[in-house]
Amino acid sequence: MNTVSFADLKLAPQILKALTESGYTTPTPIQAQAIPLVLEGNDLMAGAQTGTGKTAAFALPMLQKLMPHASASTSPAKHPVRALILVPTRELAVQVEESVRAYAKYTHLRSLVVYGGVDIKTQTPHLKTGVEILVATPGRLLDHIEQKTVLLNTVQMLVLDEADRMLDMGFMPALKRILALLPRQRQSLMFSATFSDEIKKLSEEFMNYPTLIEVARSNASADNITQKVYLVASEDKHQLLAKLLKGDDAKQVIVFTKTKLTASRLARQLQREGVSADAIHGDKSQLERMQALDSFKQGKVSVLIATDVAARGLDIDHLPMVINYEIPHAAEDYVHRIGRTGRAGASGTAISLVSPEEEKYLVEIEKLIKTEIKKEKADLPQHSARPQRETRPERTESAARPERTEPSRGYHSPAPKKPHHDPWFDKPYVPNMSEPAAPLKKPEVSALSKPKAAIPALFQRKPPANP
Ligand code: AMP
Repeated sequence: MNTVSFADLKLAPQILKALTESGYTTPTPIQAQAIPLVLEGNDLMAGAQTGTGKTAAFALPMLQKLMPHASASTSPAKHPVRALILVPTRELAVQVEESVRAYAKYTHLRSLVVYGGVDIKTQTPHLKTGVEILVATPGRLLDHIEQKTVLLNTVQMLVLDEADRMLDMGFMPALKRILALLPRQRQSLMFSATFSDEIKKLSEEFMNYPTLIEVARSNASADNITQKVYLVASEDKHQLLAKLLKGDDAKQVIVFTKTKLTASRLARQLQREGVSADAIHGDKSQLERMQALDSFKQGKVSVLIATDVAARGLDIDHLPMVINYEIPHAAEDYVHRIGRTGRAGASGTAISLVSPEEEKYLVEIEKLIKTEIKKEKADLPQHSARPQRETRPERTESAARPERTEPSRGYHSPAPKKPHHDPWFDKPYVPNMSEPAAPLKKPEVSALSKPKAAIPALFQRKPPANP
């Protein structure tokens, strides 16, 4: 059992006060392991799934180490960039900076977030006033570097958050350019849900004998998430989804789709049927994405339909359910998707609607998570209630690929001419035998989960409150 307290980790009273306000009582396993190592000055390579508390695992020791440099002066020269946190997506950037700002509330350390998709000119004046902790997406940071609106030669700590996703999204060249501009003498931390050979290579290039820590098996899905598969024909998915969304535990649900078009179409159909739904995907503007996310967080929207690219890094407290309307073709995306629920020890449900065409991807997912997921055939009434499908071909967020509109064989309900005879689905369900995750008590009211303004500031910084 983890009996370490935040005070045992030798954090300053100002930080402890902010943690108490955030409702945190005990460090999560990744925090208990990482904080002492970072305070000692080690480089760190941490394998941690989303929802494990990894943000505080790097942010807390970072603030502790930077505290001697905190200054109440308004002079920009007194606030050089000392810590750089690189993240793959805008949403994650905003969330990480929100956390840093909450933990730094009683210090004079300043933080700022910069990301693309918004006018760079609005960010420059804030950068010029000086910030110790800069959270950035790689592309926008390079824009600022080119415009000479940021200097990185004073960085003493670097964090690569969700490094695996950064590489998946093609940020390697941008990362290399940024890393070349940082002082060699620095502390580097890398967080990744999975450790591929490419990640290991990256760590060799930019880290100095990193200590490796892992809190959950990499490539494994969280143990506190109940996973379930419904075998269903593609054209019955909407009907099944509508039925699932009427369930008691479906008060707040993220529904994942493979393509932007399916996301938009589903949102439209559900809205027509009276469900408060919205979609976020790469074709939406940053402001639209932030507004949709905010409405969802505030409970104004109960169903958020998202593609993988848009949903990466979303941290939504107490999300009870995730539904995969289409399962991802990359098995690792499945782990990331279901990690949206069951965060910080809470339990969650992840339901996947799998059509016959998708079975092969399901096999890959089960191989990756080393678990056979419980399967059930969808029990649906006659097709009469089913809405008309639009039959335009569609494209995935990352690759152009027309979607099949005709299912070749199926789980039609009621079972049509031929029942499905894949013996693989008749195998008994074998539950995941791995050790249960140490449950982490979620705070009743978290300072970080308070409702925010309907249109959030595009980047935020606040002068420190008095300690
Ligand atoms: P992360 O893995 O950093 O995205 O954190 C997942 C969630 O856990 C966030 O909502 C955090 O606010 C929350 N959290 C992080 N550390 C703790 C803690 N020690 N106690 C309770 N909640 C925490």
